[in-house]
Parts: sequence; structure tokens; C-alpha cells
Amino acid sequence: MKALLPLFIFIDACGWELIKETPFARTVAPHRQRLESVFGYSSACIPSILSGAWPVEHRNWCYFVYDPGHSPFKSLRPLRWLPEALTSRRIFRRWLSRWVKARLGFRGYFDLYNIPFRHISLFDFTEKKSPLRCGGMNRGPNIFDFLKLHDIPYHVSDPASGERENLRQARAAIESEAVDFVFVYWPELDGLLHRVGHPAPEIAPKLGGYEEGINELVAAAGRHYDEVRLYVFSDHGMANCDELLDLQQQIRALPVRMPQDYAVVYDSTLARFWFFNDTARTQITQCLRGIPQGRILPDDELARLGALFPDRYFGELIFLVKEGVLIVPSHMGQRPIRAMHGYHPADPQSAAVLLTNQREIPAEVQAIPHLYQLMVRDAQVAAGRNRTAPDAGERTSSQPGPPPRKPALAVVR
Ligand SMILES: [Zn+2]
Repeated sequence: MKALLPLFIFIDACGWELIKETPFARTVAPHRQRLESVFGYSSACIPSILSGAWPVEHRNWCYFVYDPGHSPFKSLRPLRWLPEALTSRRIFRRWLSRWVKARLGFRGYFDLYNIPFRHISLFDFTEKKSPLRCGGMNRGPNIFDFLKLHDIPYHVSDPASGERENLRQARAAIESEAVDFVFVYWPELDGLLHRVGHPAPEIAPKLGGYEEGINELVAAAGRHYDEVRLYVFSDHGMANCDELLDLQQQIRALPVRMPQDYAVVYDSTLARFWFFNDTARTQITQCLRGIPQGRILPDDELARLGALFPDRYFGELIFLVKEGVLIVPSHMGQRPIRAMHGYHPADPQSAAVLLTNQREIPAEVQAIPHLYQLMVRDAQVAAGRNRTAPDAGERTSSQPGPPPRKPALAVVR
């Protein structure tokens, strides 16, 4: 028996609007609050949670950037001759993404999405390492670097394993009492919500499954640790997409060309532009100003969102659509999907959640990067208590406890 386990369970896309009225996990985590998300996709939100930093600080923001000098995709250029009927198919893209990821040695999440092969050698991919591992940030440390530095044994899910397997491994780590910190990552709700939106009949069973998993881990932790600090949280919510915007068609109609005059990445809710002459800048800016479904984000707003990059690495101009609008086709997808995130963090469906059994959450915990402070604080408290605490049953004794236990081998995957 150990003294304390901080148990952090991350459910991707479990938004505040999705669960605020529901009894989801209320018995084990009765204290619940809304958290502001981070501007960007999971590629920005997850690194922000894991590091406590904002995109401008850790530089994990959007996946693809215009950077022909560093593009690892030059070998894919011959694929531009393949018929689009084949290369735009998801099954082909998924297979090719796996092959490219292995060949280029990328350690994080990788998907070629719908980037056209005729332009692919102009782009670099910004998440070559996994933020869920030590040394995984583009800049600065993450929670796993912190745990390693302080010799705190921990368990973290491997996203390559399925959710069932992740549950089994987390439970095994808890039952071994070898860890002072557990971080579980469940990504499947995100994919489900993209497909079906909400409300939808598929959502409640999925949440029910998560609730069972949470209960199972809490029960296991309760048998092996005197105190369990449970935090169930997310990175963003999800908005149904009720309006489609063919932005590419409008930009292509202008008398400027890619890549001679400009470059662009069409994410599903953002378009990020780089300009190579004033004509392109003027023409495209004017065109975007006339599109009622979105707006160009001014620098001061990007700065407030922690996403104004002085070197304009992720784009010189950032166009963002309104919540519920989907840019399609985009470089993220050829066809519409039911729901999306990556809207303005102030939009209602963007909000993330924090559900906990802890009565006192510091008032400054308002946005997802602040979860990092909770992780650091509890990991330190757990490491201290688990090393010095006498075994259960002796805890009220005034006798000095047994000598500090060296934690067993870290369960790190
Ligand atoms: Zn998603």
C-alpha cells in the first residue's frame, strides 16, 4: 500500500457543453468546471496541457507549415502523377501515412491528411516527436521530462495501443504500486464525435464505457493507495458543422498562383497563408475580408491567444471561420465531416472540462495549460509521501515509519 496516487485521465474532445448537464463520472468526480481551450487543434492543445506552455512558447501548433527548405516529403513528389481519384481516398492516404511515418522516423501522430502531392514538397511537418514522451516538445520540457528529472516513477498510455489495452496497462501499473503518477489518454471520443456529432445515439454508450474504465481505475487505485486524486479532463469540445465553405475555390479564382505568388495550408477551420509578393497579399486579403463565414485574426488577438509567432512560422495571415463552419475540401479532408473543433477558444463548443474528486482547485486553473500545474504539484506531493509514508495501518502511529522506499522501476512506455 502506498500513500498517494495522482490519476490524470485525458478524454480527447470531451467538451464542457457535451457533459455539463449529464451525470457523467459524477460519483467519482463530483467537482466539475469548464476550462478554456487553446487556439488550434489537438496538435496545439495536447502539448499545452503536457507543458503548461502556450503555442508561441512550445511551438507545437498546426501540423503543416510552408518550409520547402526543410520538407521531408520530397520523395513523395512523383506521386503527383497518380490520379486524384486514388490519392484523395482516405484508405490510400492512411496506408501511405503509415509508410511515410515509419520511413521518416516520426515518433508522434502523423497523417498526410489531404495535402496535395503536387505541393507536398513545399511543406514541413511540425510534430516529429511525440509530446506524450520525454523530450517530445518542439521547445521546452513537458510533464514527463519533469517526472524523469525528479526521479518520479510514472505510467503514461501509449497512443499506439487501443483504449482497452491502455486501460489494462494503467490498471497493471497501479496494481504493481510501482508508480507515483498515472496519465491515461483515451482518444476515441474525438473520432466518434467528428463522425456523428452531438447529440447522437452513439455518444452515451461511449461515455458509459469511459465511466466504467474510470471506476475500474479508481477502485484499483483505492486498493493500493490511501488517497487517490482523480482528474478527468479534456483538451477541447466539438461543434457540429452545419455550413460548408469552399474557400479553395474562391482563392483559386484570384489572378495569383500557388506556389509562385503565395502558399497556403487549408486546415478545417483555419487557412494559413504565406505571401511572396504584394499583389498576392492584397488580392487574398481583400478576398478573405469579403467572406462572411470567417475573419482574419489581427495580431493583438493572436498574441492574446498565445499564437502570434514573431517569425510567422505557421503563416503570415491566419483566417478563422465561425463556429459550425467547415472549410471543405481542405488539406485536412476531401469530404465533409459532421463535427469539428479548432474554432475560437471563446466559442461555446470549444470549452474543455475538468472533473475531479478534489474540493479545492486553485482559482488560477482556468485554461487547459493550467492542468500542468496540478500535475506537477500532485506528482511532487505523491513522490514525497510515497517515499516517506509508513504502510497503511501504521499511518496514525507516532512511531517513525520504515526507511524511505526507493521507488520501483518506472513503468514508462
Ligand atoms: Zn479531433
